[in-house]
Amino acid sequence: METRSLIADNLASVKQRMASAARKAGRDPQDVRLVAVTKTVSVEKIAEAARVGGCVFGENKVQEASEKIEKLGTESCHWHFIGRLQRNKVKYIPGLFELIHSVDNSELAEDIHHYSLKHDRVTPVLIQVNVSGETSKSGVHPNDLEELLAMVRYLNGISVRGLMTIPPFDPDPEKSRPHFAALRKLRDRMKAVNIENIAMDELSMGMSNDFEVAIEEGATWVRVGTAIFGEREAH
Ligand SMILES: *Cc1c(COP(=O)(O)O)cnc(C)c1O
Repeated sequence: METRSLIADNLASVKQRMASAARKAGRDPQDVRLVAVTKTVSVEKIAEAARVGGCVFGENKVQEASEKIEKLGTESCHWHFIGRLQRNKVKYIPGLFELIHSVDNSELAEDIHHYSLKHDRVTPVLIQVNVSGETSKSGVHPNDLEELLAMVRYLNGISVRGLMTIPPFDPDPEKSRPHFAALRKLRDRMKAVNIENIAMDELSMGMSNDFEVAIEEGATWVRVGTAIFGEREAH
């Protein structure tokens, strides 16, 4: 008799909660996709998640990710990069990641463009925005977003698809709502400005603690780790 694993149960429950949050907001559940965040998670556990149907994984360190990708491949597993990207690691990323969620300056955008073209690729990216204005956080300031988009729009090695944010952690998910709403409004404003070569369709926002609120506010990608794989060990 096969017993369902904890990861399978957790994944099923996260997907169910995602779908009901979408329906509650009058959205099509198909429009909200899951990045299962696998930083610090073992290859065995990721393989289990892939087996039971969570097939987009998010990593935040290039070295750790490339070791896992080497073992698990890119055929049945899809990989996104969600962390702070050091410029000296950019040369490794074309071909590894299908979406970079965390571009927040033009130098980084130029490096990704450069190495992508070198590998005959176009790398889809999101622009990370610091909507809360916390000084410790990565992300472009909302007031500087339009200028950044105008600077990167001719980089044909990247393809800007939308925006991402990480609000300050608060145990109360409702505290994240204004930040998510702010990112959606910013996305709508940039869409209206209609910058050439820039798509503004994706909103990457919401983590284990607040993904339902993020979906109500328009998330198209949620990034969920702990609720699927359990608490991470310090790393
Ligand atoms: C770790 C991480 C997540 C997932 O966080 P959980 O609270 O474990 O769901 C999401 N996004 C980013 C950028 C992360 O670094």
